[in-house]
Amino acid sequence: MTRQALIVHGGAGPVPESERAARQAAVERARDAGWSQIGAGALAAAVAAVRHMEDEPLLNAGIGACLNTDGEVELDAGVMEGGGLRVGGAACLRDVRHPIDLAVAVMEDGRHVLLAAAGASRFARDHGLEMADPAIFITDRKRQRLLEGADTVGAVARDAEGHVAVAVSTGGRTGKLPGRIGDSPIAGAGFYADDRFGAVCGTGLGEAFIRLGLARLMVVELQHGMDPGSVAQGAVDHLGKALGAAGGVIVIGREGPPHAAFNTPAMPWAMAE
Ligand code: ASP
Repeated sequence: MTRQALIVHGGAGPVPESERAARQAAVERARDAGWSQIGAGALAAAVAAVRHMEDEPLLNAGIGACLNTDGEVELDAGVMEGGGLRVGGAACLRDVRHPIDLAVAVMEDGRHVLLAAAGASRFARDHGLEMADPAIFITDRKRQRLLEGADTVGAVARDAEGHVAVAVSTGGRTGKLPGRIGDSPIAGAGFYADDRFGAVCGTGLGEAFIRLGLARLMVVELQHGMDPGSVAQGAVDHLGKALGAAGGVIVIGREGPPHAAFNTPAMPWAMAE
């Protein structure tokens, strides 16, 4: 039997010092929500943690997500199972209540790995997912505009059968152009999972994660025998050195404890084993 593990993060973006404790508490609540599902498997645990964070208004996913240049919220989410390398992504969503649920539905449907915008909304409706008035995602327009940069929420889990999974959800970056899609719904960029090696999840400048193929690169390093802590630290070092980008990552290998690393002033995270 494999030792179960879960790690959850609430984003590496810049936030006021005054919000740090409340954001850490929100991430710990998400860790608890995820850990309560670990008996149902790694995917269930990772998704439960992220789904919880989509409802935490201080985190940049779902309710409270940052605004684009039109002052609107457009959401991205992704999920991957390390067993069959199954992937689901959903991008540029305005009216899907829980983007992570749509990512799971895309994965389970299995025809495609990424759906965006109006077609993604139609798919969500057709699959009976909860829809939402886009206005509910906007909590405090001033605060959401002031959040410079970005954030993402994510969770990586390993269950008793040795399966790993990752789930990610984000509002992207403040002031992004309408239609912009980041790394968070794109497997290999913002997240990746492979039962043979481990699973990873990133937060930070999405364009940099995509250009570096960073999540896949991290799993290749695990494949080559690097320890998960060094993979995490190496990834944020690479992000900074190669592209001058800021961000953070969480990692779980086939065995051993979870790891987090970031090159920003703070990234709330919490784990359970
Ligand atoms: N990676 C996200 C994006 O670029 C934002 C972040 O995590 O800071 O959409």
